[in-house]
This record gives sequence, structure tokens and C-alpha cells, in this order.
Amino acid sequence: MKLWTNGFFHTMEDQTTVYTQMATQDGIIIGFDDEIKELAFDEIIDMNQGHVYPGFVDAHLHLLGYGQKLLRPNFSHLKKKNQIIKEIKKIYSDAPLFVEGYFECGLTKDDLNAISNEHPILLRHNDYHSLTVNDFVLTQAKIKSLSGVLTEDEAQKAIDSFPKYTKEKIQEILIESIQSLHQYGITGGHSDDLYYFNGFDETVFVFEKTLETLPFRAHLLMHHLTLNDFIKSKRPFLDQNKYLQLGAVKMFYDGTLSSKTAWMKKPYKNTDEFGLKVQTDQQFVKMIKKARKHHLPVAVHVIGDQATEDVCQLLEKYPVDEGLHDRLIHTPWLAKSTIDLMKKLPISLDIQPQFLSSDLPWALQYLSETPELCFPWKTLKENGINQAGSSDAPVEIPNPLLGIYAAIERKSDHDGKTYFESEKLNRFDAISLYTINANYSTQHLNRGYLKSGYIADLSVFTYDLLTTDIENYKKDIVEMTVVDEQIVYRKQFV
Ligand SMILES: [Zn+2]
Repeated sequence: MKLWTNGFFHTMEDQTTVYTQMATQDGIIIGFDDEIKELAFDEIIDMNQGHVYPGFVDAHLHLLGYGQKLLRPNFSHLKKKNQIIKEIKKIYSDAPLFVEGYFECGLTKDDLNAISNEHPILLRHNDYHSLTVNDFVLTQAKIKSLSGVLTEDEAQKAIDSFPKYTKEKIQEILIESIQSLHQYGITGGHSDDLYYFNGFDETVFVFEKTLETLPFRAHLLMHHLTLNDFIKSKRPFLDQNKYLQLGAVKMFYDGTLSSKTAWMKKPYKNTDEFGLKVQTDQQFVKMIKKARKHHLPVAVHVIGDQATEDVCQLLEKYPVDEGLHDRLIHTPWLAKSTIDLMKKLPISLDIQPQFLSSDLPWALQYLSETPELCFPWKTLKENGINQAGSSDAPVEIPNPLLGIYAAIERKSDHDGKTYFESEKLNRFDAISLYTINANYSTQHLNRGYLKSGYIADLSVFTYDLLTTDIENYKKDIVEMTVVDEQIVYRKQFV
């Protein structure tokens, strides 16, 4: 039995309840303050006046994609062509090379061929949708390109041609990722990884192995192309053990706004294009029906306002089993009528508040008309629709405080202006995105509050998030992270 003392324990059931001591046993909270006075403890942990919250969860990210980004060379600080060539020469070691964060400044395949054409060299652009590659990659991926600059499908083909990782390397990537998340106070994440690396069986195996010694609540969405592997594996839906769950079937409905492939109600500016659907509705319905046949919910990537309306209508027509719910990932632009439709559905939205700060105002300039609702978190909240906070890392930094800040302030990183002020969330509701709301899709009813019978997953910060100067959210104020009663991160004092 453990006593966690000298802290401020914010239960998050309401704005005001705070305790100073908490007891835990076998990974579960057993009481606070007066109710635990008589107990005998094996261990006493001094919280050093820290502010303790239920463990923060990132409801949509790519754990392996994020770890991979951390381990790869990153050129986001370099902006000049000759600097970049010099740096590639310095790090090139006669082996395949994948660089992240390249700022497009006119490099071509010829520049890369001059460094080497013996191994693949790939530079991923900082917009995350394009690549510059050498001839070796073009040959391997059977792509013709004069410049070596690739986008979308061709870029994906080039990435697929990059040598596969060993099991050990995947594990190294996962450890790097989880350790970084622990430092941000994250105790769990819902991740989309099972299709992009070493296949369903091996990737799930690496997660099981890694989580045995590195506590973290991982919930893995199952890409629709891995569904047959899941069925063959005879694994249960959801709990594999106390740290690992298999979740909804991940599929895509439309593309992204920056590539003008989000499926919109109004055409893109100066065009008669509305975006596109990744597949026909008939194919999409087939994917939903297959998930339903195996009693599974779906998790759909959906960006455009028309796309979200279409998906809601299809989900209404092909409902999920009683007691389960589907997930919509992203949903930044909405029509008012879609909200009425959503209210009728068992549904949860995985939203990325940081996207507002990164994408506004430029995203609005792509559109001929501003959609009826833009990142409408307050409206959704008032309509009782569950919104789970997330970063989509590696797209955004998986620091929940940055997400909470964005949900409260709604400020653009580009011009510092506030956008659609009336949709601001208050601090309590913004924090709830990453605690109670982010746990909704785990189907566990004892996650997301500090309360007797709830899991002992904790995020501990230097200041009271409900009252501290909001600019403190941008500082490193994580003091401790606890998963299943075990301290997985503690700030080092120098
Ligand atoms: Zn994603």
C-alpha cells in the first residue's frame, strides 16, 4: 500500500474538490485524506507540493511514427540548400538514410545522387506530405521523376520501399516514444501503428513485450487492411492485458485540407473542386459492414464538412453494436446540421486542438467560403458530444499542455490572433479532453478521475492548471508521471 502525500490532488469530478493525500494499492486508488488516516503504508511518496491530476491520455497519435521521428536526423533548423547538403554528407554512413523536417529549398535527386546512389536517401518535407529522394529510391519504388520530389501516393510508395525494421529496432522506437510521452505527463495513448510497420502480429507482439517493463496504457486502432490478421489471431477486442487494448477499425474517408483533398461542401477557392473521397461510398460501406460483421466499431479519418456529414449518415444506416461507439478522427470543419446528426449517434470525436494554432489562418484561405463551424469545441460540448484530446503526433508535439492551451486560447501560431472566440473552452473542460473524455473509448469506467476504485495513473505538475498564469502551460512544468502506481518519470533536480 502506498501513500502519496504533500500534494494537491484534483479529482476532476468538479472544479473545486482537492485533497492533500491519497492512498493506492495494487494499482488502484483506495481513498483520500481522512478516510485513509488509520492505514499502514509500505511506501510514502512526497509529492513536493505538486498538483496531481488523473493521468493524461493522448486519444490519437502514432506511437511508432513519433518514436521514429525522434530517432531520425531532423533538419527542421536548416533552411539553406548548401547547409543541408553539407549536413547530409556529414551524417551519411554508407547505409539507408531517412531525414525528417526538411524545409523545401530546391534540392533535387541530382544533389542527393552526388552524395550517394548506393543506398536510399529520403528527405521528408516538413509539411509531412512530400519527399525528396535519390535515384536509388526511384528505381526501388518504380517511380519516374525528373526532380526526385514526390507527393502523396508516390511519396507513400517511396516510403514503403525503405528497408523494413527488425523487431529489435521497432522496440527501440517504441521505447523512445513512450519515454518521451512520460516526460510530457502522458500515461496512455490511442495509436494507429498496426499497418505501417512489421505487420499486425509482430507489431502487437512488440507492444506486449515492451509494455511488460515500461508501463503505459496503449490502445491500438486496427487499420482496415489488418482486420483479417486480427480475426486470424483470435485475439479479443479491447483488453489484451492491463496495459494493452486493440481498438476500433481505422479507415479513411477523405484527404487533407493542405492538399485540397478534404471533401468540402463548398469548392476550394478559385476552383470548382470540392476535394475527394479516398474510396467510393460503396467501398466504404463494404468496409463498415465487414467491421460490423465482427462486432467492431470504426474509427474514421474525416476532415471536410461534407465528408463528416456523409460519414455520419452512413454510420446511422449501419449502426455499431449496442454499448459500443464509433470514433471520428479530426472533424475540424462542420455544418450545423451535422451536429444534430451526431447527437443521434453513439460516437466520440478525436480532436486535435493544436491543429487550430498550426492551420489557421492559412487553411481558411484555401476555401471559397468559411465553413459554418470551425473547430467548434464549445458547440460540441454543449450538445453533449464526447471530444477526446489528441496531438496526432508526429504531426504535432504530443504535449497535452499545448493542446489544452490551444483549446482555451484558440490563438494562431502564425499571427497570434484568436479565432472564433465563442468556441473557446474553459480550463476545466479543456483539461477534461485529455482525462475523462480521452478514456471514453477504452470502455473502462474507472479511468479519468482521481476517485476510489479508479486506476492510479497520475500526471503531476508544478502549478495548479486551473488557476496558474496560462503562459506557464508553455513551460516544462511536469513534475512526475505515474502509471499503475509506478513512477515512470520524475523531474531531475540539478
Ligand atoms: Zn493520425
